[in-house]
Amino acid sequence: MRKVIVVTGGVISGLGKGVVAASIALLFKLSGYHVNLQKIDPYVNLDAGTMNPYEHGEVFVTRDGKETDLDIGRYERFLDESLSAANYITTGKVYWNVIRQERAGAFLGQTVQVIPHVTNEIKRLINLPMEEGDAEIGVIEVGGTVGDIESLPFLEALRQLKDDLPRQDTFFIHLTLLPHLASTDEIKTKPTQHSVKELRAIGIQPDAIVARCDRALSDSVKKKIALFCDVREDNVIGDPDLFTIYDVPLLFADQGVDRLIARGLGLNDRVAQIDRWRELVSVLHSPQKKVHIAIVGKYVELTDSYISIKEALIHAGMHLNTQVDISWISAEEITSKGEAELLRGMDGLLIPGGFGDRGVEGKIEAIKHARETGMPFFGICLGLQCAAIEFARDVLGLTQANSSEFDPHTPDPVIDIMTEQTAVTDKGGTMRLGEYEAILKEGSISKSCYAKEHIYERHRHRYEFNTAYRERFEEEGMHVAATSPDGRLAEIVELAGHPWFVGVQFHPEFQSHFLSPHPLFTGFVKACLENGSSSSSS
Ligand code: GLN
Repeated sequence: MRKVIVVTGGVISGLGKGVVAASIALLFKLSGYHVNLQKIDPYVNLDAGTMNPYEHGEVFVTRDGKETDLDIGRYERFLDESLSAANYITTGKVYWNVIRQERAGAFLGQTVQVIPHVTNEIKRLINLPMEEGDAEIGVIEVGGTVGDIESLPFLEALRQLKDDLPRQDTFFIHLTLLPHLASTDEIKTKPTQHSVKELRAIGIQPDAIVARCDRALSDSVKKKIALFCDVREDNVIGDPDLFTIYDVPLLFADQGVDRLIARGLGLNDRVAQIDRWRELVSVLHSPQKKVHIAIVGKYVELTDSYISIKEALIHAGMHLNTQVDISWISAEEITSKGEAELLRGMDGLLIPGGFGDRGVEGKIEAIKHARETGMPFFGICLGLQCAAIEFARDVLGLTQANSSEFDPHTPDPVIDIMTEQTAVTDKGGTMRLGEYEAILKEGSISKSCYAKEHIYERHRHRYEFNTAYRERFEEEGMHVAATSPDGRLAEIVELAGHPWFVGVQFHPEFQSHFLSPHPLFTGFVKACLENGSSSSSS
């Protein structure tokens, strides 16, 4: 058996196609099916590695080291599983493969064209995970909006796929926006009608419409959409604004969305086992406790740049029955306003990853505050690197200590370029990427969080802790709490005598899922809770 569910988007972007696709995939997974979830991103970049977080949000990293769109992270968080490079397709990847085949002589004599060569390659990439794995249902999200020039070859390939397969093996869902006009108090369906018209012009008739609206849909609106867009009335699904994205699978389950898709695909009725999910969502709605955590970063006005960290804190908080209130603080503001004022009332400090020197000095000042006042501190990648620089300057007295990323001439490069990175010139896909093993040290905070010795975490960096300084750091209390299996690379540092001060060279946030929070995030939020209750009782 092999069934394909396609999610396209209309009217505007940013309606949450990723959440819709992930919610549908989750419901089928919880009904006992093997599901594969794929994202098509029609941009020409080979991957998201070189893309600006301001435009596209966070760059997510898969276990096998692919730098992807943040939706892949969302899929992993929903499905509670690891995906791979095969789950992410861009125009760049498709053309790269086609051109390589052309150079290798695979099309000798032929004119290489969008149809059929490019569309064949798209179909091959879509089929690959299903042919190689055991997936029974493939859910494919097509990024962008119908009508974009970039999406055309992908939609054409999906149209062909629909005709290649038996009629009942594909199901097309179109996500649109229903604007509400305040002056007349009306919900307008015209943009949806136009967008469906656009999709039909490409040869795709949607089987269901998911309509985003700021309120519930009346029967008359559903009827109108059904009539004008030629879908069954039952297959018009309202998708109002909800408290969190984790409510969406429940909304869909309660509206029977998975069952109507199953019927369309000729599958038996099964009931998704969603009880555990429902329990957790109810905690999210009314947690018993609360913590305040400061995130000092560079892109704080666009928190999608740190989406996995934000979600990891939510997951950890939820499993501790705690609401995590995040204050996003610009690192540059710390330098101008002072850390003491900006961190007042915070129970913990988190410094996320980043590149370039903008804001680094502010991050260092914030870390000094956390180190000196016993405020729980969690440094991730650049966050660890800043903690090492701060410690070297203030405790070891190496006043000009720095990372060679920010000051190539520093006399004390306590953070230095990794040996294998020195000759690298290309920017895309060349960092130390993906999953690596690390060994945790007995007696460390991290070991007690993970409750095991061998861990596997994902990386994305070029610089590392310079172990030439390790002894001096350890003598003064900053310890290496985890290394690579050969003992060469410092993967975690911790501060002795501090309640919770942990810096990690990897990105634990990429492995936090709604159903299974990451042990370091849980440990950190717990420490923040303890800090909060001790400071409020004193
Ligand atoms: N810029 C630093 C490096 O390349 C940190 C990277 C990160 O935080 N992901 O090592």
